[in-house]
Amino acid sequence: MISRIAEIAVNAPLSRSFHYEVPSDLEARLERGHRVLIPFGPRLTTGVCVGFPETSDVPRLKPIRRILHPDCRFDDHLLELTRWIADYYRANWGEVLEAALPPSIRSGRPERTVKRIAAQRPAELLRIEADRIRQRAPARARALEFFAASPGPRPRADVIAGIPTTAEVLRRLLGDGWIREEERQDRPDPFGDGLSCFETRVEHELNEHQVRALEILRRAREARAFRAILLHGITGSGKTEIYLRVLRDVLEAGGRGLVLVPEISLTPQTVMRFRQGLPAASIAVLHSMLSPAERTGQWREIQEGKARLVIGARSAVFAPIPDLRLIIVDEEHESSYKQESSPRYHARDVAVVRGRMLSIPVVLGSATPSLESTHNARNGKYELVELPSRATPHDLPAVVISPLDGSFYRSDGSGLVTDQLDYLIRRQLQDREQMLIYLNRRGFATYLHCVRCGFVMKCDQCDVTLTFHRGENIARCHYCGLGREIPAACPECLMPGPRKSGVGTERVFDALKKRYPEARIARLDRDVITTHRKLRTTLAGFARGDYDMLVGTQMLAKGHDFPRVSLVGILLADTGLSFPDFRAAERTFQLITQMAGRAGRGAKRGRVIVQTFFPDHYAVRCAASADYRGFCNQELERRRPLGYPPFGRLVKIVLASEDEEKLKKEAARIGRRLRESAAEGCQVLGPAPSPIAKIQNRHRKQILLKAKKAAPLQALLRACEKDLASRRSVDVAVDVDPQSMM
Ligand code: ADP
Ligand code: ZN
Repeated sequence: MISRIAEIAVNAPLSRSFHYEVPSDLEARLERGHRVLIPFGPRLTTGVCVGFPETSDVPRLKPIRRILHPDCRFDDHLLELTRWIADYYRANWGEVLEAALPPSIRSGRPERTVKRIAAQRPAELLRIEADRIRQRAPARARALEFFAASPGPRPRADVIAGIPTTAEVLRRLLGDGWIREEERQDRPDPFGDGLSCFETRVEHELNEHQVRALEILRRAREARAFRAILLHGITGSGKTEIYLRVLRDVLEAGGRGLVLVPEISLTPQTVMRFRQGLPAASIAVLHSMLSPAERTGQWREIQEGKARLVIGARSAVFAPIPDLRLIIVDEEHESSYKQESSPRYHARDVAVVRGRMLSIPVVLGSATPSLESTHNARNGKYELVELPSRATPHDLPAVVISPLDGSFYRSDGSGLVTDQLDYLIRRQLQDREQMLIYLNRRGFATYLHCVRCGFVMKCDQCDVTLTFHRGENIARCHYCGLGREIPAACPECLMPGPRKSGVGTERVFDALKKRYPEARIARLDRDVITTHRKLRTTLAGFARGDYDMLVGTQMLAKGHDFPRVSLVGILLADTGLSFPDFRAAERTFQLITQMAGRAGRGAKRGRVIVQTFFPDHYAVRCAASADYRGFCNQELERRRPLGYPPFGRLVKIVLASEDEEKLKKEAARIGRRLRESAAEGCQVLGPAPSPIAKIQNRHRKQILLKAKKAAPLQALLRACEKDLASRRSVDVAVDVDPQSMM
């Protein structure tokens, strides 16, 4: 008899699935959606069972080895969703399925368990026994009293420390049946502690705009149909309040919700707001800063249906949530929703597709919607809901543009702060009000150069300048991470001591400390905040008022609501404007608006100083006057004739190789093939050197495809599928709807 055949989407960079034999011992158990271990070429790999074909024209099928995690299976919906992603973003289905799992499950490491101990008999009996033996065995009596007072279950280590007692005493109590021990999967609560310093929640009465917006969301929820709603609310307009209330409806009706937030906004405070706003709901959090055990634990809670609400960053869009009824994508404009390695999906767009597949509403919220989403709202694909005013007593902060000159880069740091900003910082310190100081760059100095010959220290593996980190006394490449010693003299002309120029948060921190010795300053960037715990501690300290000033990078811009912050200083607003990226103006506009939105959320009206070398740029001007529409119109008119999104679609193809000659040939060949196959209206631009022409010793070239609609581009990619496969010496990466042009 022929045993059953299974179709397996294999986790390997190949674009199709393969047939395998289902051995008889698995026949009764294997279902569609199971993850399995299979022989593939000379090795074993993983894959997911996606179907059971009747026949196969492969003569001899290899058998599946075993089912991995029989208790977690992709349901039909997630199979369909991942299939769509594989198709649209030109990735392998098996790889997409793999990306949908948390890394800890993916790795196949056994899940951690903890031993927990609980009282086995009623408290009364424990007390009687304790009294009876107190003279003879005081240690045992103390332990019994402990269990009478707190029957558990609690982790074994806590019990031993809590009594305190020894393992031997516990072993005897276990043997005599007074207590019991259980082994459970470790599901630590990642946000269980350290949050009490944030203010407790007040239930506000909604203002008229909020009421209207909530009404629309409620109707969408009740309709139980797909709908994409763009919630454009200025910073502090009370979007989160609306999310909370519509989520409450969802949960009360027995459904579940998913909230996506950018990685950096997934702060303890964000989670706390949802916890306090939905006290009856169990909330799971998916965040890359969680420990593997925490992440697995949270994912299990979701998969078993115990979590009613999931809050997570990009990859949470794959969370296996049963009976999902509403998806919210907060800060939908954030480019971090796009994954920059394969599969290169955009979580916001995937959320919309997921909503359509499940026939549920998807809410996209932002103070600065992406031009793509605004365009979709203008042409009726999305429904637009606006919150045009702040929910708090004060208006948007007063924004002042403060032009910079060359002294900004003075090496003693004395020109970092303009007179205007200096004046306000001093006043804040006097009034004991808090402030945020923002800079887009980590490190101390952004580059090291020789003052005589102009030599600039670059990473020899990557075509970028090195950043000086003073704490480590090292020049570090922000692309490959490699650190190098600072040479005593210029390698070119032997002039001693390279000069450190440009500014990073480390230098700003030092300069501000020197300039305002009385100020209590904390730093917030990836160099100092390496764990979730550190992030929590620093933010909690700031919220408590331990610091006057928080200096940092993008980490400052999102997800915090500090009522006592009434000044925001943006030291350099236009770091991105000179980048070769058509979204540079949009990014600058978003950044200024978001940072400005951090000021004046409490009782006092906020002030914002925007330091810039381009005081007349429309992105800077419109952001300063909170003119989203004005910015949009100008930016759209600039993009329309160029056919850039939202007026067209792009595909970026990056080729990389250590062998420059081979790269050149292959790029030319692929370019030619694409031109031959391109339908009318499909533009093929390049190959050209990438803006960063080398990373980690690999030279890079790129080709850009442009068309009015997605379909012809998809057809072109399919037609050239074979040509676009990576070869031994040249890697080819296809990025559909790229967010970064570098
Ligand atoms: P957004 O998410 O749009 O930036 P939030 O939901 O964080 O705005 O709200 C900003 C601040 O306004 C929060 O401190 C919130 O508690 C408060 N808030 C929201 N709605 C109201 C309201 N109707 N009345 C008073 N305060 C409100
Ligand atoms: Zn490098």
